[in-house]
Amino acid sequence: MFDTLSDRLNKVFTGLRGKGRLSQADIDSVAREIRIALLEADVALPVVRQFIAAVKERAAGEEVSRALNPAQQVIKIVNEELVKILGGETRRLQYAKQPPTVIMLAGLQGAGKTTLAGKLARHLKDQGHAPVLVACDLQRPNAVNQLQIVGERAGVAVYAPEPGNGIGDPVAVARDSLDFARRAQHDMVIVDTAGRLGIDTEMMRQAAAIRDAVQPQEILFVLDAMVGQDAVNTAEAFRDGVGFTGVVLTKLDGDARGGAALSVRYVTGQPIMFASNGEKLGDFDVFHPDRMASRILGMGDMLTLIEQAQKTFDQDETERMASKLASGNEFTLEDFLEQLQAIRRMGPIGNLLGMLPGAGQMKEALAAVDDKDLDRTAAIIRSMTPGERADPKLINGSRRLRIANGSGVKVSEVNNLVDRFFEARKMMSRMSGMGMPGGRRNAKN
Ligand code: GDP
Repeated sequence: MFDTLSDRLNKVFTGLRGKGRLSQADIDSVAREIRIALLEADVALPVVRQFIAAVKERAAGEEVSRALNPAQQVIKIVNEELVKILGGETRRLQYAKQPPTVIMLAGLQGAGKTTLAGKLARHLKDQGHAPVLVACDLQRPNAVNQLQIVGERAGVAVYAPEPGNGIGDPVAVARDSLDFARRAQHDMVIVDTAGRLGIDTEMMRQAAAIRDAVQPQEILFVLDAMVGQDAVNTAEAFRDGVGFTGVVLTKLDGDARGGAALSVRYVTGQPIMFASNGEKLGDFDVFHPDRMASRILGMGDMLTLIEQAQKTFDQDETERMASKLASGNEFTLEDFLEQLQAIRRMGPIGNLLGMLPGAGQMKEALAAVDDKDLDRTAAIIRSMTPGERADPKLINGSRRLRIANGSGVKVSEVNNLVDRFFEARKMMSRMSGMGMPGGRRNAKN
């Protein structure tokens, strides 16, 4: 799922690497690429339009951050817009004031309702609820039996009409199940209903009648994420025919392009609440728009890193530092100490490494950096006088000995640090012309 979309979006971001700032032409071309990516993923046209408009407006707008480079800025915007079209906040189940809480499942045949009923029941049971599954799919000969098997696997009770009583009335079964739940102290009732292969008035009528009989707190529309563009029509038909309060996406483990998942919230106005990604009981989770967005972007925890960088590196401070670097000799050990502390505030180096996607060789090099090394370096600088920090050339032999004693390290380590600092300063002033993140190039003036 989402593989093609992820690949395409990543190509867009890669194309932005090394760019100093975003021109209008860059923004237009990024927007065009993202548009193609979304259309290829089978995302509904109105959703694509709205998405692209938002990305363009934001990329060109005021909110451009000086702590991030253009590629990171675009990743951030695309991520936030993805979260938005996926529904924003995670939506939790609503419970009845007086138990039982009734959850009704609706959707086409084969969408995965019965399988989901078992998964949801197990999930609720794990949370300490006592759910009962209700078999209101009396259309398919084997449906009741299937639900009973699912219930057994999940270790929950199933309420079904007695066998041998003919086809039976699903509305009556649904109504009676509420009495049963109250008597047997089930606080959650999950009603499985009959689907058809296509949109069908009789199916809608029956589902609406069951809805009226049990007055559910939640009606979950179960949608097979593999169906592509058709999903939008089906979702609209169920919204108009039965109404629903939330969506469950199934078969997210399939290799579909993901258009249904990205369109359904926008098209129906109802949140995606759960996701199924396999045939087993455990292949199920509460749907989190933010996690899904970062999965689509295939960025691992890159997004977390971007957020932390933004929080950690105060923008004006970053500006000031960048201009010092650019001028070479103005960058002092005091500034270096501040930078070290900012990096340490972002957490252990090991965690930061884990957030970098790919980056094989670089990771190995960085893995050699130990938090303790950074802390020792900071300790050495702290043993220096303000004068020495501002002008490291002052640090002669006897001062080195004093600093080494003060910070509990060998003189050779102090030598090392001072040498490396001069080296680094030389390198940084060379590099600053090439546009480091947060450098002056992003400044408005
Ligand atoms: P219903 O007609 O809506 O009740 O659908 P079922 O629950 O009977 O599911 C139809 C088929 O889809 C069954 O073969 C399920 O095993 C399969 N299925 C359901 N959910 C998933 C899922 O998340 N992933 C995969 N791969 N298959 C699923």
